[in-house]
Amino acid sequence: MASFKLSGNKIKLPSKVFRRNGMNYKEALQKNIFKTISDAAASLNVDAFVIGGFVRDHILDRGTHKDIDVVAIGSGIELAKAVSNQLPGQPDVKIFKTYGTAMIRYEDLEIEFVGARKESYNRESRNPFVEDGTLEDDQNRRDFTINALALDLNMSRYGELLDPFNGISDLKNKIIRTPLDPELTYSDDPLRMMRAIRFATQLNFEIHPSSFEAIRQQADRIKIITKERIVTELHKIIESPKPSIGFLLLEESGLLSYILPELVALKGIDEVEGQTHKDNFYHTLEVLDNISRNTNDLWLRWAALLHDIGKAPTKKFSKKNGWTFHGHEFEGSKMVYKLFKRLKMPLNDKMKFVQKMVLLSSRPIVLSEDMVTDSAVRRLIFDAGDYVDDLMTLCEADITTKNSRKLERYLNNFKIVRQKIVEVEERDHIRNFQPPVSGEDIMKAFNIKPSKEIGMIKEVIKEAILEGEIPNEYEAAFELMLKTGKKLGLKTHE
Ligand code: ATP
Repeated sequence: MASFKLSGNKIKLPSKVFRRNGMNYKEALQKNIFKTISDAAASLNVDAFVIGGFVRDHILDRGTHKDIDVVAIGSGIELAKAVSNQLPGQPDVKIFKTYGTAMIRYEDLEIEFVGARKESYNRESRNPFVEDGTLEDDQNRRDFTINALALDLNMSRYGELLDPFNGISDLKNKIIRTPLDPELTYSDDPLRMMRAIRFATQLNFEIHPSSFEAIRQQADRIKIITKERIVTELHKIIESPKPSIGFLLLEESGLLSYILPELVALKGIDEVEGQTHKDNFYHTLEVLDNISRNTNDLWLRWAALLHDIGKAPTKKFSKKNGWTFHGHEFEGSKMVYKLFKRLKMPLNDKMKFVQKMVLLSSRPIVLSEDMVTDSAVRRLIFDAGDYVDDLMTLCEADITTKNSRKLERYLNNFKIVRQKIVEVEERDHIRNFQPPVSGEDIMKAFNIKPSKEIGMIKEVIKEAILEGEIPNEYEAAFELMLKTGKKLGLKTHE
């Protein structure tokens, strides 16, 4: 470990230590914006510090953090106004009166200003009683030691790190730990339980054992947190490089039962007459990790997480067939709606996308096990539409066999399916299928009003195209329309 020169709880790190460890936040503080904040704070005669994620991520060398949190020992709102006055174009200061905070957007940065606070909580809500405080008070109310690191912006101490809880050493040792008593910290604001797991997942850190135990003890307090905030953390876990870390911790802590009981229901292996099925919870997490190596799309990752949720309610054992999950895709897609609704997630095209992925999640597998016929590929393209590539990505992630020969065979089959999709689509244009003969055409040809016969004719034409009996073209479809109309007793009106 580097030898830090301690002065009280202020730590001076020689710059070569920063460089050796990639801790070049001193450079970050050279940006004009920090000088401006420093000047503005001096003009108001208040001390100001950069705190939280910006400091943490710079020390970790985690790319550039676009959110900057500034704490003022005084009014954050007044400091924000003074900073805006000194910036070119004097950007708007957005004031959040209820929280006593202010925000400025400047270039690609979002800078949040808050006055140092001291907080006390009552058990029933996460809204604390707030009063003005010192920097130490403010650091005490932070969730984790690694998020309590502060950099002094006062000119005479510019760039000095204030680390009262040894956050630097927790960063080095990859530990998530609360500054104060974990029980109190999580009880005061149970959202922090989700945040602990989220940071552990994003950073691949360990949650300190006493912290984790406190989370386990108080998991039920997550009930007082709004769904929106829980979902924000869930999204961040799902968007992490290896989301399974988070879901294993959520399960182990008991939190998952309150948030996504549908996943907990997938856990376990049943055995009847010596026959078992796989543990669909762990399988799901593998699928989620697999897909996360191939896509950053949040909703496709959600689809991977939920693709098997219908397996719990459809699970059956029979002597003849062993374990089956008939119709789990359909059941699962219905569950997606209920789950999104319960978590107050959007019930829009994103939800429909996840539903569609879940509903179709077994289709390419069936296809790749069999001879890949053109008509099966056309049907797949027809049903998946624009999402056919996403569906293939999901199905490839769904292969979790540990047998490398099987793995290779399955992946190869999917490769063939992918090739076929391109070939068939080029020829038949099934994606975003529009019937080559419209309802209008049919009504005109037979001189009829809107009626069920129109739907029947359209269905016959669609089926014939998907089966490859006629090409996806106007003339062939028109001919079939005439033939089908005749069979239905309709007359053309020449
Ligand atoms: P990220 O931007 O990756 O979410 P962050 O640490 O910047 O990370 P924010 O939610 O923006 O996360 O919070 C900024 C800072 O505010 C945190 O670093 C932490 O110091 C503090 N903080 C945020 N939420 C809480 C909370 N629930 N309890 C205590 N402190 C918190």
